[in-house]
Amino acid sequence: MQDAIDALRGRGLSRIESAATADELEAARIDLLGRKGEVTALLRGLKDVPADERPAAGAALNRLKLELTDAFAARERDLRGAGEAVTGLDLTLPGAAPVPLGTAHPLLTVLEEICDIFYGLGYDRGDGPEVELDYYNFTALNFPDDHPARDIQDTFFLSDKTLLRTQTSPVQVRVMEQVTPPLAYVFPGRVYRNENADASHSSEFFQIEGLCVDREISLVDLRQTVDAFVERFFGAGFETRFRPHFFPFTEPSVEVDMQCVKCGGKGCGVCGQTGWLEIMGAGMVHPRVFAAAGYDEDAYTGFAFGMGIDRIAMLKYGVDDIRLLYENDLRFLNQFRGVL
Ligand SMILES: [Zn+2]
Repeated sequence: MQDAIDALRGRGLSRIESAATADELEAARIDLLGRKGEVTALLRGLKDVPADERPAAGAALNRLKLELTDAFAARERDLRGAGEAVTGLDLTLPGAAPVPLGTAHPLLTVLEEICDIFYGLGYDRGDGPEVELDYYNFTALNFPDDHPARDIQDTFFLSDKTLLRTQTSPVQVRVMEQVTPPLAYVFPGRVYRNENADASHSSEFFQIEGLCVDREISLVDLRQTVDAFVERFFGAGFETRFRPHFFPFTEPSVEVDMQCVKCGGKGCGVCGQTGWLEIMGAGMVHPRVFAAAGYDEDAYTGFAFGMGIDRIAMLKYGVDDIRLLYENDLRFLNQFRGVL
């Protein structure tokens, strides 16, 4: 059997190579791979091969079939290319094969969608460096020198003074140094934590930070902003709630929950049977942060919030493992073609 396969390979490849026109190539295809072709005949003969040799022979035949199919495709391209060289390139001809198009990554799509909602609320967009100074990431945000978040376990330090930012909050201070209130900004971007990856943790992820500063901004403005965002992003009918929390850079600080997108508040696996999902941390900007930015802390108030874009994307698309968002497995990403 193997001898017959080898002989057919040699004969088939040279016949394909010597085909000078599309018609000759098509005739070769029928003789080799057609219903009554030579490869098909060998495949039929497999049943006469002793049972212990049959798997190997079958595999060899399949390889031959693929090899010949590739050779046909290559020769077809060559012949078509030669035709073009003679007649010139005709740009009005339809393309020979569909050109694969890229598509936006689900994370970036969600990032842009969130930004669009805040543009609609009058926000600008700001940006800051991912390699950040300790000063902006911690000191200016009212983290005491001995705060556990500075611990080497959580932060990728690059030197004594520089690190990979652990949050998008440092951009708050950078923007306030440049802009006089009133201001309203969102800062989306990548952040880094020195954590082991599991289904809900990754050493890199995306956050979006919001900052709104003016005279007489209050917690009520924050509440309305959160509700407007939830309604526009997830749809109408989801309640939100604030729970007291602690962040160094806001006072008071809250964690914001919304009713579970999956069960609507009844309780399910996604929300741990509570009916609520935590979607962001927020609060009123701490006077010490205003002082670090050079603002008159008696004249201005403001709120800030931060949310994980990965988490929002996972809720929106029902993705249960954050690592899927970073592995760039096309089988995963292709599911978002046309959806976005
Ligand atoms: Zn639920």
